[in-house]
Amino acid sequence: MSDLEDLYREIILDHYRSPRNSGELEPPAHKAEGFNPLCGDEIVVYLQLDDDNTIADIKIGGQGCSISQSSASMMSAAVKGKTVEQAQELMGSFKGLMSIADKGEELAEPTPAEIRELGDLAALRGVVKFPTRIKCATLAWNTLDQAISETQSAD
Ligand code: ZN
Repeated sequence: MSDLEDLYREIILDHYRSPRNSGELEPPAHKAEGFNPLCGDEIVVYLQLDDDNTIADIKIGGQGCSISQSSASMMSAAVKGKTVEQAQELMGSFKGLMSIADKGEELAEPTPAEIRELGDLAALRGVVKFPTRIKCATLAWNTLDQAISETQSAD
């Protein structure tokens, strides 16, 4: 195992043991629930937007495997304080990272620029070697996407 894989494993375990932004928000915060039947993972996203479409607060509930829960923790930390547009860009980058395995391509080490952009989320890159776990890693983002749709349709 490389030093990078060791580091990634530690980052994942740290988020799993000490999840960021764990909890609930009261309405008018928007709520979305995601479920991954393949693994039994559940993610609940509570989303509070400012008037200027900035993610003022985000809380995460749910339960499941270490990949799903650490991914949700990383996602919440990554998007809090960002605009909805920035969060959606990050979602695109993360899903791009996760889609490589679908095509069966050899994995290259992430570039320093990619790691900087994704922060702790880059630690989940190793998941793409295990295609059944990709849905665990992307569940939080799909649930965030639902929560964002909620905010748009409510207006
Ligand atoms: Zn899972």
